[in-house]
Amino acid sequence: MYIYLHVPFCVSHCIYCDFYVVLEKYGGKAAYVDAVCREIALRFADIDLTRFPQGIQTLYVGGGTPSLLSSGAYARIFETLNQYLPFSPTAEITLEANPGATRSEMADDPAAYRAVGFNRVSVGVQSFDDTELKKLSRLHSAAEAIGFIHRLQATGWDNISLDLMYGIPCQTRDSWRATLHQTVTLGVQHVSMYGLKVEENTPLETLTLNAAARGAYPLPEEDDVVAMYHEGLDVLQQAGFVRYEFSNLAQPGRESRHNLNYWDNGEYLALGVAAHGYWQQVRYEGVRDMKTYLQNPLAGEQQPCPPQERLENAIIFGLRKAQGIHIPSLESEFGLDFRQRYVAVLQRFGGDYLHWAGEYLQLTEAAIPLSNTILAEFMG
Ligand code: SF4
Repeated sequence: MYIYLHVPFCVSHCIYCDFYVVLEKYGGKAAYVDAVCREIALRFADIDLTRFPQGIQTLYVGGGTPSLLSSGAYARIFETLNQYLPFSPTAEITLEANPGATRSEMADDPAAYRAVGFNRVSVGVQSFDDTELKKLSRLHSAAEAIGFIHRLQATGWDNISLDLMYGIPCQTRDSWRATLHQTVTLGVQHVSMYGLKVEENTPLETLTLNAAARGAYPLPEEDDVVAMYHEGLDVLQQAGFVRYEFSNLAQPGRESRHNLNYWDNGEYLALGVAAHGYWQQVRYEGVRDMKTYLQNPLAGEQQPCPPQERLENAIIFGLRKAQGIHIPSLESEFGLDFRQRYVAVLQRFGGDYLHWAGEYLQLTEAAIPLSNTILAEFMG
């Protein structure tokens, strides 16, 4: 079984973020852990556990800033999960952590989190440039992030992923290259690099749209953003990382098994306020309101995923993987002749953008900046 747990607490709200976030200063962590444990009991009561002979294969705790919860809180959540389904001995258990949460137990004693069962950490670094970090309203400095990663390494964490961002206001190709080289120097196992998106109704949208502020928040030109993406691939691949998804690279054998399940369009259980899950062909979203969640942890919305939508998701997620889609498996799952059904798309984008590797269909690296256009052709 694959499980995602959402922990919404953050020290402050970054200007570009449109996630559901609860500021730590308002408290409520103990009540939240209680509610998560109740949600586990309620959801597992309806699950046929014989479907999961391997137990829990991955648990990904995302946020928010999950490293703001104590190791004791996680010990309690893991114990509750274990009452229903044990963790596989090879389970991948990931914690998202922020170097800016300097007054947290994670900053003081990162080994405590390994002791309760986490074996992978994903650090929200974003950039090793202080000007860029300020533009993103992140709380940490580059030096704090480096110090935090060194502390993780010194306390036994040997599966560390960094989140990096390109397309940040004031970022240049040189500063991005410096962030990449710093990443390589740190000797981590995994990197996720995302292009900054200016989301609607965020302070960043106002700042970049506002003519007076735009001078202070100049976004890099589109061509530079594309060049940064390719430079990211070049620098990291030269350092031994392998791209296994559009935005994700890992040292061999260190790919995120949890995220690969998403791109395989596999089911996963989501727990927590505002968490998104996909379970028995139904997509669901936990309620985006802490008060309601605490009263009823199953509150939220759900939407059955009909066969056409499942097929589109299997193609869109599957083509994100460097390995691509195993077409015979897709054909047998959905009862279709892939080449016949998508003959027009294959003719239009074949060659430069779509590539056959035996029974797998892949998007080429050149196609990735155009992927929205190409993937849209597989819809409908
Ligand atoms: S730390 Fe992450 S989740 Fe929290 S506000 Fe910033 S971007 Fe959003």
